[in-house]
Amino acid sequence: MGFRFLPVATVASAMATWQGALRGRVGPVDAVEVGLAAALGRVLAFAVTAAEDVPGFDRSTVDGYAVRAADTFGASEALPAYFDVTGAVPMGAAAPRPLPVGAAAPIATGGMLPPGADAAVMAEYCELLPDGQLAVNRPAGPGENVISRGEDVRAGDAVLRAGHAVRPQDLGVLAAVGAGRVVVRRRPRVAILSTGDELVGVEARPGPGQVRDINAHALVGMVEQAGGEALPGGIVPDDPEQLARRAAAALAGADMLIISGGSSIGSRDYVGQAIDSLGEPGVLVHGIAMRPGKPTVLALADGRPVLGLPGHPASALVVFWLFGLPALAHLAGVPAGGGAPRVQPAVRARLVRNLASAPGREDYYRAALIWDEPAGEWRAEPVFGKSGLVSTLVRGDGLVRVPAEEDGLAAGEMVEVVLFGWR
Ligand code: AMP
Ligand code: MG
Repeated sequence: MGFRFLPVATVASAMATWQGALRGRVGPVDAVEVGLAAALGRVLAFAVTAAEDVPGFDRSTVDGYAVRAADTFGASEALPAYFDVTGAVPMGAAAPRPLPVGAAAPIATGGMLPPGADAAVMAEYCELLPDGQLAVNRPAGPGENVISRGEDVRAGDAVLRAGHAVRPQDLGVLAAVGAGRVVVRRRPRVAILSTGDELVGVEARPGPGQVRDINAHALVGMVEQAGGEALPGGIVPDDPEQLARRAAAALAGADMLIISGGSSIGSRDYVGQAIDSLGEPGVLVHGIAMRPGKPTVLALADGRPVLGLPGHPASALVVFWLFGLPALAHLAGVPAGGGAPRVQPAVRARLVRNLASAPGREDYYRAALIWDEPAGEWRAEPVFGKSGLVSTLVRGDGLVRVPAEEDGLAAGEMVEVVLFGWR
């Protein structure tokens, strides 16, 4: 058999193909109704609309006195405004009667303004006189120190949109509008297989020539952190029949499949053909002009994304980060950003070493971020090392991309470091 070469797609064309296939042929997973605690990190299937105003009444934001703002106009330390003091506003209940003109009602933070009152003055600017009158020594404008009814959320407002991944503060707004149960996508199930005759499990002691399966564990972490449910399916030998059978079995119970190792076109690389046998349309891209990550397979099998990742740990994780995370997000119903890779948080940092790159190929360097206090900026310290090393990823905080059209980046340039650990 002669040498075969992996025909490569550019990252941009592979991404366009991938995003197009996801949008055209992959639907979101089903939705389930859950309580608030279970909604954290999950993606909303529908927008949540407020049924009521929040707050439902005008509230004081200070401890002090509810007043009519007009009664305080012109008040100063030299010439205070004087008020009759009425009964205190109870917490958690309406004041028993409207506020008479020229009167002030003691009120605590969060208390409901009595009808007629339109401002609150802080206790610090008030003095209770021996005759029971209240001297107020600064004016309050209408609405001052008040959160008015509906100021936070208005009835009918969409407080959270469909496709939004719920954060802790979102649980707070859901509670505020009384949405104790919400409809979210179930976590996409992602089956994970490792392939290679040399691989053994984490509990085994590797014999000569054997190595422990690193990728399955790191990928479980990435999937779970991104809101998926990882289904680790174990290690498969470099055998075409076993690979096809185990891949089909793993995918049967999953929404997406990841296989690491065996994705090139060497004599022991059967992943491409195994993936192609799983369903329609099969392999979309095999080989991408990126480093690490060239021997990558992107495929769909009957509406389910399937990725063949390179075996080298750093390659596998970079490719999963670039192509796997958008697929997972798509399954979870997160809208994609118009065909572009989803925008991920990045830090601008000054590159401290030159980064080489062959033109036409995208390079993804791992980099550690170090805060440079005197300069008031981040420094990006590349963590060099072969893609077979997992320690380079561990020492990195994110990735620096050298675009295909560049032949490198120079020390001293400002670059973007896309942070690890985001979905
Ligand atoms: P492959 O992509 O199968 O050619 O593998 C490339 C390199 O990655 C080889 O050195 C493999 O031993 C290694 N490798 C493959 N899969 C894994 C894995 N799951 N964990 C750790 N190393 C792996
Ligand atoms: Mg292999």
